[in-house]
Amino acid sequence: MPEREPSLLDDLYREILLNHYRSPRNKGTLDAPTCSADGANPLCGDEIHLEVELEDGAIDAVRFTGTGCSISQASASMMTEYVAGKTVAAADRAVDDFQRMMIEGASPVDDFGDIEALVGVAKFPARVKCASLAWKTLRQALEHPDIAEPVTTDDRSANHG
Ligand code: ZN
Repeated sequence: MPEREPSLLDDLYREILLNHYRSPRNKGTLDAPTCSADGANPLCGDEIHLEVELEDGAIDAVRFTGTGCSISQASASMMTEYVAGKTVAAADRAVDDFQRMMIEGASPVDDFGDIEALVGVAKFPARVKCASLAWKTLRQALEHPDIAEPVTTDDRSANHG
């Protein structure tokens, strides 16, 4: 399939992104998720379903399934890899750190690792929505575990903020 987006990025970042896209980490579902959420980015057609298993206030396991562009799916892979094992509070901070990197142009957090590869996406507002989808979906799952309301990156219909 044609993959235009990664050509916007430099070679190293493109390699990291394609690696996560082709070999996604934590892809699949959980037997007994504590919470889950669905996210959609209608502008690009990206969809993410996220399942989280919480244990003593920490993310014991996290899995995602989804379809969409390479940036949306690679970001989901990177996000799950990063937050697995973290406390809910730390995962919540990570969502803020990621949004600051993508929207405010902040430097990546020191231990972001592969996630740093998405910093080049920040220059392309339409692609920021692709990259942010999994993170917004994570927040939805953690904050509203009882609500099945899907999140959308379409700000016109989002009821938060
Ligand atoms: Zn996309």
